[in-house]
Amino acid sequence: MFCPECGNSNSEMIEGLCKECFLKQFSILKIPENTEVTVCTHCNAKLEEGKWKESNILEEEIIYRALERAIETDSLIEKEEIELKILQMRGTIAECYIEAVATVLGEKIHQSYEVEVRLKRTVCPDCSKMNSGYYEAVIQFRADNRELATEELVQTDEIVKKSLFTQSKKNKLAYLAEKVTMKEGIDYYIGSYKAAKKITNDIKNRFGGLTKESPRLIGQDKSTGKGLYRIWISLRLPNFKTNDIVKYLNKIGQVIAIDGNKVLVNDLNSFGNFSVFLKEYDSIKVVKTAKEIKTSNIISKSPSKIQILDPDNYEVVDIATHKIFDGYEIGDEVNVVKIDENLYIVPEIENI
Ligand SMILES: [Zn+2]
Ligand SMILES: [Zn+2]
Repeated sequence: MFCPECGNSNSEMIEGLCKECFLKQFSILKIPENTEVTVCTHCNAKLEEGKWKESNILEEEIIYRALERAIETDSLIEKEEIELKILQMRGTIAECYIEAVATVLGEKIHQSYEVEVRLKRTVCPDCSKMNSGYYEAVIQFRADNRELATEELVQTDEIVKKSLFTQSKKNKLAYLAEKVTMKEGIDYYIGSYKAAKKITNDIKNRFGGLTKESPRLIGQDKSTGKGLYRIWISLRLPNFKTNDIVKYLNKIGQVIAIDGNKVLVNDLNSFGNFSVFLKEYDSIKVVKTAKEIKTSNIISKSPSKIQILDPDNYEVVDIATHKIFDGYEIGDEVNVVKIDENLYIVPEIENI
């Protein structure tokens, strides 16, 4: 047997060639000259085997990953080391350089390749939904029997923004499609139902509230034939806010905190705290709002009584003393409310 390339007949033959000629035409890597990768202009997700994957990856990283996927190594090689470099970008084409070192048939060989990776720019379905204002859910933010307070509006906007920002890292439909302000409240149109549900819970944890969901059929999914629903989430903040005075059963107290499940109230007779589950919302009545709390002065103090002036008619009123008033001096200004003709001292929250 002799080598058809060089005529040498003294060498072992591999695939019909002498070892020297075989190595000359051997390629460590098999790489297509052009590799194409489809990338979303908005979120940098890439299309792979029909699926959009991995948004927010740097363009360079997308190019490297596309190359890595395109490269195949010959089964004869051992101890290979492969280095990828992007030489330059020409528009949407990355000119790349690959260096490979490997051992083949006991010989160390060194090869380099120049290839192109073409970025095909388009818009992924999630981003096109966002561009078209698509939404799956609407949060109808209201307050029960009252207008929303400015601080509730401001803080809720902040909660929505923060929650969407965190969720958007994993859910591309976590965006605000539209915000509509009305006299009775705010409607937040949210791309993803899941995101809207999370936001609703975040708001509820801050202010309490009652929720109700009503799905509305808006058509049919053309590919699956299933009904398409949009979910309207009604979120009503309680009638009362922190610092308001409420009546629960026969107790009168000041609301000192509200969370997703319950209300913490300071009893204005015993000055002890009690909590009421929001499930019992209907049994909690606002008797005075925080704005209706007035001030008065202590005019005398005895071991059993404190005397203050009724701010409405300047009559002197006796109030049984309590250890919570220990630090009060004659002449001090205190907060008071009158409920059913009874005057109550409202302690500063930090004293409770
Ligand atoms: Zn040869
Ligand atoms: Zn996208």
